[in-house]
Amino acid sequence: MQHYDVIIVGGGPCGLAAGIEAAKSGLSHLILEMGSLTESIRQYPRRMRFFSTAENIEIGGLPFPISGVKAGRDEALQYYRKAAAYYKLNTKLFQEVWDVQKQDDLFTVTTTTGDLYQARKVIMATGYFTRPRWLNIPGETLPQVSHYYDEPFKYSFTNVVIIGASNSAVEAALELYRHDVNVTVVHRGDDFRSTVKYWLVPDVKNRVREGKIKTVFDSVVTQIDEKSVTVNNLKTGDETQIPADFVFVLTGYIPDADLLRRCSIDLDPVTQVPVFNQETFETNVPGLYVCGTVLAGIYTEKVFIENGREHAQAIIDHIMGREVHKVAELIQRI
Ligand SMILES: Cc1cc2nc3c(=O)[nH]c(=O)nc-3n(C[C@H](O)[C@H](O)[C@H](O)COP(=O)(O)OP(=O)(O)OC[C@H]3O[C@@H](n4cnc5c(N)ncnc54)[C@H](O)[C@@H]3O)c2cc1C
Repeated sequence: MQHYDVIIVGGGPCGLAAGIEAAKSGLSHLILEMGSLTESIRQYPRRMRFFSTAENIEIGGLPFPISGVKAGRDEALQYYRKAAAYYKLNTKLFQEVWDVQKQDDLFTVTTTTGDLYQARKVIMATGYFTRPRWLNIPGETLPQVSHYYDEPFKYSFTNVVIIGASNSAVEAALELYRHDVNVTVVHRGDDFRSTVKYWLVPDVKNRVREGKIKTVFDSVVTQIDEKSVTVNNLKTGDETQIPADFVFVLTGYIPDADLLRRCSIDLDPVTQVPVFNQETFETNVPGLYVCGTVLAGIYTEKVFIENGREHAQAIIDHIMGREVHKVAELIQRI
């Protein structure tokens, strides 16, 4: 079995940044990714636009030239693929990692198909997007229900219910309404979330005022059927049916805590934030690191590409025994 200096689990922007830093430092590396390269971004809504300006999501010091200011999904996919090719990153795609175990000074990484890889150091960069927050209600696994919004045209002239009131929910509601979809947003709170991007707020609120997007606040969906959802009003207890040909459950995502635990990483029982050194990103398992959004626990909105990409340099500095690059304090840019 070939031994690597570093194995990186996850081929998102932060995992790729770690691969680049390893390659720059002359470390042999392998990136194991359960899907395609930058699988999470590939799953983003097709017409989404990043809120960050392009230079803030660059990796490896490679410029990200676009004609506008903020990149769309396809531009980001092109950019990260080109970055991986430029640095000749060693990737194995469609390889889902099941666990990472340390014996003496060597880690063995096992995939779900039983393949084994070994390395001196391992970096977990598995993000959060593979794990939707399930509501665990009847009907949630029906084929017309999805935890990922994709594109608007499929849904024109149908009834769509969106569960959630965050950025993703608001962006989907606006795009669907503009493609002749009868949209209803159901949310347990009494308004859209306060974290919704400020430039979206007047747009969505005006559409709600005009009756073009319907909202059912203070309410939860208790059941999904083939053509409708059942909604329970948390204040009055009233139960109503809303027509729904399609349902998007956009209630967020959370890092895979089970995977981290299987790798012997300790997690805070409430926040699910892994135990790690704030400067070196090394976990309670010496030689095993966390990088990017995976370290956010339930606070997924606090770590994104802009700040998560910086973890890579600190980790590789630590592995190389160099002075560790200081990662900037978290900046709330949203
Ligand atoms: C719609 C949307 C818009 C966004 N816009 C911005 C923005 O403008 N600016 C910004 O900075 N951030 C933005 N974000 C957040 C940002 O995309 C994420 O924080 C970012 O992808 C984190 O990078 P990552 O490499 O840590 O994780 P990811 O990009 O999620 O990569 C993790 C990778 O690990 C893989 N993986 C998971 N488990 C395993 C396993 N067991 N074995 C092997 N591989 C595995 C996944 O398939 C995935 O490819 C946005 C997010 C969304 C949803």
